[in-house]
Amino acid sequence: MTTPEQLQTIRAACEARAARFEQAAMDVFGAAELNWREKESAGALCRALEAEGFAVRRGACGMETAFEATAGTGGPVIAFLCEYDALAGLSQLPGVPEPAPAREGAPGHGCGHNLLGAASAEAACALKSYAEEAGLALTVKCFGCPAEEDGGGKVFFARAGAFDGVDAVFAWHPGAANYVCCQGTLAVTGVVYRFAGRTAHAASAPHAGRSALDACELMNVGCNYLREHIIPEARLHYAYRDAGPLAPNVVPDHAALHYYIRAPHVPQMMEIRARVDDVARGAALMTGTQLTIEPIDGFSDFVPNRALSEVLQTAFEAVGAPGFDEADRALAARFAATVPDGERETNILNDCRVAGQPRGYYAGKALDDTVAPLHWDPDATEPGSTDVGDVSQCAPAAQAYVATMALGTGGHTWQMTAQSGCAIGFKGMHAAAQTLALAGAMAAADPALLARAREELRQSVPNGYFCPMPETARPCPPED
Ligand SMILES: [Zn+2]
Repeated sequence: MTTPEQLQTIRAACEARAARFEQAAMDVFGAAELNWREKESAGALCRALEAEGFAVRRGACGMETAFEATAGTGGPVIAFLCEYDALAGLSQLPGVPEPAPAREGAPGHGCGHNLLGAASAEAACALKSYAEEAGLALTVKCFGCPAEEDGGGKVFFARAGAFDGVDAVFAWHPGAANYVCCQGTLAVTGVVYRFAGRTAHAASAPHAGRSALDACELMNVGCNYLREHIIPEARLHYAYRDAGPLAPNVVPDHAALHYYIRAPHVPQMMEIRARVDDVARGAALMTGTQLTIEPIDGFSDFVPNRALSEVLQTAFEAVGAPGFDEADRALAARFAATVPDGERETNILNDCRVAGQPRGYYAGKALDDTVAPLHWDPDATEPGSTDVGDVSQCAPAAQAYVATMALGTGGHTWQMTAQSGCAIGFKGMHAAAQTLALAGAMAAADPALLARAREELRQSVPNGYFCPMPETARPCPPED
């Protein structure tokens, strides 16, 4: 249980650091760097952690823009996760409720990762200071995880065993509502199917050609039939990586498809992947082309830990929802008004569903001022994927959504970028930092709870962690 002293000490420790981490959040906001290129962003967080006495290993696990920060020795190991990559084309002036790019076409923090990283680092520092004050033996770790949007820094950490000794991971993500997230996410793997054929004049000697483009089209037809015979929660999507030569009068001798294959659990995903591979082989056989299969990446599904989710819930309720005021609500209403009605309703309904609240729970509000009760729902799956999944299969983990934007505004939008750089976002970020740090303090003081969390993970992932990322995958920008 949380005590008033714990809450007071953690809150004071966060408040003493609020300015430092707001500055770090704005530095990351301004840098807005894409996956694997987050040099300035990682640097800002490393400097803030070093200033607080953390030992920081930059370039961790072979990733130039990753870091692993550690403070304290012995005792349980409590870890937090930073993300700080931006999204292409979502540049936007902070706090402005109409489309206004800071730089036309430049990246922006449309997923709020500037807040995510800064709050997790703030939580790590507050927990370190709490442990020192309380004379508690405790090791605090803060992982700087690049490329969440594409690439998956956490999977490289997981593959290297970086989370093996960790007793508890407390994570969060910026959102429109406040709740602990107790659903799974979809495991995903990306695979490129490349076909090589033989070129020929398409009118005078088509019989001499073997079309790689035909192979791609037949593969897609095959996969679109396959959909009927895979579990309904699975998802297949594809894009042309290479649509062959530009001239219609040349039989295409090269073409390639990039597939995403998703399913609620890694073994289901790998089984469907094998069937997609067979469809690709069939397409090659039909067209007389050669097939190369190139697995690109893979994320595991998120496995929520009940013992830790309950601690996170208690901490969140003790800290309370972000302290939004009238000015925040007025600005939030202006942001919400820019989202088309249908889309706004869909976004709100999605929060109701994951939070386990009835339709109408958020009605009439611009900003969420509640912390929804715990809704334990591990067999349900959120329709997205995250590399926090891999962390959750290596160490017990829980995560919360914390309101950093108006209800009804969705992720990966200019509205989210704008709100991630103003008071609404900062208030959410500090509530998140206090919640994570308090959960860490509670878990660290309760060895029986940590043992329960560990046993639960052993039962949820009985065969241990299987990394869905291919051996050949390297952390690098896609075009490098
Ligand atoms: Zn995100």
